[in-house]
Parts: sequence; structure tokens; C-alpha cells
Amino acid sequence: MSYFLPNIDAMSGYEPGEQLAGEYVKLNTNENPYPPSPRVMEALRQAIGEGLRRYPDPLATKLREEAARLYRVTPDMILCGNGSDDLLTIITRAFVGEGDTLISPQPSYLLYKVLAEIQGAKYQPVEFPADYSLPRGLAEAKGKVTFLANPNSPSGTFIPTREVEKLAQAIRHVLVIDEAYVDFADQNAMALVHRYPHVIVLRTLSKSYSLAGMRIGLAVAHRSLIAGLVKVKDSYNLSALAIVAGAAALADQAYFQECVEKIRAERADLSAKLRELGLAVYPSQSNFVMARFGEPRAREIQQELRQRRLLVRHYDVPGVRDCLRITVGTREQMERFIDELKTLL
Ligand code: PMP
Repeated sequence: MSYFLPNIDAMSGYEPGEQLAGEYVKLNTNENPYPPSPRVMEALRQAIGEGLRRYPDPLATKLREEAARLYRVTPDMILCGNGSDDLLTIITRAFVGEGDTLISPQPSYLLYKVLAEIQGAKYQPVEFPADYSLPRGLAEAKGKVTFLANPNSPSGTFIPTREVEKLAQAIRHVLVIDEAYVDFADQNAMALVHRYPHVIVLRTLSKSYSLAGMRIGLAVAHRSLIAGLVKVKDSYNLSALAIVAGAAALADQAYFQECVEKIRAERADLSAKLRELGLAVYPSQSNFVMARFGEPRAREIQQELRQRRLLVRHYDVPGVRDCLRITVGTREQMERFIDELKTLL
């Protein structure tokens, strides 16, 4: 006999990428290879003190205001989260009940399915076509929420904003555009939040702002949606340190731009080098690249790289078993990766 709800017993849970300590070149969880802005470090130093005895601001107002300025929306259109994973959880809890349907293209971020399972809801995947363009069936799928990761993970591919807008026009339920990687892309869908009351855009400071360890995410939507989501969130879902770090990071746009440009340049270089090695590489608009190595070679190469202390991501899920996802790192990391890879091919 189990103490758990049947749906919890039945599910396997989300498996995060390996977070190994020590001398690894870590290209497996899409972290930024550059440190956070020096202004973040300074803001954190100032925040560490007697004030930590108090609860943080429940709405993270300082961060909310900074984000509102940057995204040209009002602060009441923003909800801050303990990473965007927290916001995905809040959204699922708020809109998807037992027996309801949650939709997303597949293969995509594996957490979406897990969130549906926790609710006792149905998860309806809609297969991406081979080129990772917008799946036709997505506009017809009926449910409570559709999650669209754009750029997608693990493919790194991007669906143009005008097509995302057509999807928003076609569906009546909540459309969540998970833009975790969009700062590395040429376009984004932020403007849609002004035109569609059922669209939520998610951002994170984990990737482009080098703050995965601080856990800071942002949801942007019509104020009535945000007001409803506030009722569902934990009272103090961001720590006092996360709030000041997030606000300082967003305020330093010059540093942010510099990091993003370096990563975009390395991405182009990495993609070209992988193609020179004869591999099929998906066009990436994110801070990682997916390449096809074949099956079972992809998995073997991931293991062999791991023995050489290089971590990349392999997904044992349909559609991508023959691929590896490689996070874009520094020039030195990329050179080391390509050198090791050459010896394995
Ligand atoms: N969405 C996507 C598509 C992701 O790949 C990730 C990173 N695992 C997240 C959301 C969550 O990022 P975080 O919670 O660090 O903001």
C-alpha cells in the first residue's frame, strides 16, 4: 500500500541534468560560461547582513519594476518566480485540474509532462515535424494550457513570431510561450502580451544573465492573469538575495549584451565546426546546439566524452535518441570539446 496519490505513484518525475562537482567542462545544462555582472556581485554583498532576518518582499517589487522597464510593460503585468520552473508550476496549478489536458509540442522540455502528471491531468504531446517547424496539430489541440518552448529545447530551433501569433489567434485556452533561451534569438514574442489576454511569456535569468544558481524567472501577461497567478504562488517565492541580484542583473544591459554576443558568435563557430565534421546540425537560436550522431552512437559518444570529463546532454526519448545537445561555452571549452570529439568520430 502506498501513501501517495495514484498519479504520483505512476509517474517517474523530472530528471535534471547532472550537476557534478570538480574538473568537468560542463556543456550539459545550458548554463552561461561567463560570470554574472559585477553589479550583481556588488548588490549581493550589500544585501548580505542583518536585513536577512526579515521575510522578503512577496511580490519582489524591485525586480518587477526593473523588468517592467526593460520589457516596456507595467509592473502589474509581471510575476517573479523562483526560476521559470516555479512559474511553470504556478501556471499548471492555476489552470490545469485533474482530468484536464495540458498540451505541448514534442520533443521539448520534459518538465511539462511531469507537471501535468502531478495534477492528475492528461498530457497531450503534438509531434514536431522533422524540421521543428510549428506542428500543424497544435492549433487544433484542445486543452487548458499549451506550453511552447521557443527556442525549443533540446533542438535549439525557433518558430518565427508571426507563426506563434497565428497560434495565439487559433486557440482559446492559455498559451504559454516559454522564452527561456530567447535572449540568444533574433526575435521574441513579448509584444503578444499586449494583444492577447490568454498569452503568457516566460523569461529566466538562468541562461542569458548567468544566474541559474539564484533561481529567478519572470512571467509577463495581462494584469488579470497575473493577479490570478499571484493567488497560487508561495508567499515568499523569491529570496531577498534573488530579488536584489535579479534587479541588478537586468539593470546592467551593457554587460548582458556583451555576454549574449560572445555566445552567439561561439554558437555560429561551433555549428560550423560540427558541420565540417560531417554532422547534421539543427539551426540554433539558443545557447546550445543539437547535432545528429546516429543511434546508438550518440549515447556512446556522450559516455566517452564524460570519461574525458566533458559533459553534454543525451535524451533517451523518441525523436532525439540519435542526437546530443551541446551547450555553447567559452572559446577554450569549445576548442577542447571539438578536439576530444574528433578523436571519437
Ligand atoms: N524552460 C526551458 C525550456 C528550459 O530548458 C529550462 C531550463 N531547464 C527552464 C524553462 C527552467 O529554467 P529556470 O527554472 O532555471 O528558469
